[in-house]
Amino acid sequence: MSAITAAGLMSVRTVRLPGRLAQAAAALKRAAMPAMAACLVLGALLGPGATAQAADAPGAALPVVAAENFYGGVVKQIGGAYVSVTSILSNPDQDPHLFEASPKTARALQHARLVVYNGADYDPWMTKLLAASSSGSGQRAIVVAADLVGKKAGDNPHLWYDPRTMPAVARAVSAALGAADPAHKSVYDANLAAFLGSLKPIDDKVAALRAQYKGQPVTATEPVFGYMSDAIGLDMRNLRFQMAAMNDTEASASDIAAFERDLRERRVRVLIYNSQATETLTRRMLGLAQQSKVPALSVTETQPAGVDFQQWMLGQLDALAKALAQK
Ligand SMILES: [Zn+2]
Repeated sequence: MSAITAAGLMSVRTVRLPGRLAQAAAALKRAAMPAMAACLVLGALLGPGATAQAADAPGAALPVVAAENFYGGVVKQIGGAYVSVTSILSNPDQDPHLFEASPKTARALQHARLVVYNGADYDPWMTKLLAASSSGSGQRAIVVAADLVGKKAGDNPHLWYDPRTMPAVARAVSAALGAADPAHKSVYDANLAAFLGSLKPIDDKVAALRAQYKGQPVTATEPVFGYMSDAIGLDMRNLRFQMAAMNDTEASASDIAAFERDLRERRVRVLIYNSQATETLTRRMLGLAQQSKVPALSVTETQPAGVDFQQWMLGQLDALAKALAQK
């Protein structure tokens, strides 16, 4: 029993929350512990994939599946101890554009009361799995980030880098949790307010960078940072090269030459480098940037372990500020 309790504590601790939310979550955790322990006992007996079934028990955490871990993290910040979140894409060492779903993914989806995914063709496997799987509980809310911000297949799919996306996702998640679990609606409302407030330092940083660097030319190996770059007002170059890198197709010789010229002649202030989507050509551009003394900013498209969404974004904006400040 003690081992199970420890595992229960660990599963709560792995989620990092900002101060006020963490305190609220700790209180919730204490309140929800008996149901959670029961759920974990079943989970331990039945093995991975079975915890979602166990969570269907009355009073247990709502099972939620997020296609990407940055959305899963936001669900956890809103739902606290009342949600049990499975995030499918969570490894910053893999290229999400090349991901294929496994039967384990399908099983988790079957029991989810809430599913959150990006859309805009970033995670087409999710649409297919949802179409193929009926909801085990009969009620399954679905939040698609792209639909909330009016984006579709063919648009830059890295929507979570747009400062407008996460507030919209958080509001939709809070509403869906409140509808699925009306008893705790006031908690979800309060956590939503805290979450929205916690985004202000990101918005402030974007505004400060915009005031200082609007119109400055930059380039990138892949369009992952594109919306953030647009929000700051940077002049993003070599978009065709970036789309080819993202889609794993070949960039044209003239697009490659233009990219190389930008670096060699230092026509750009920063090279934004997606460390998660690397191939020979993008690595060559990074090498060329280093040779030409163009500062490189490394960004990831999956949230790294040990930081929440707000810390992740702020860290990258701070790094961008340093890179732009270099002469
Ligand atoms: Zn990408």
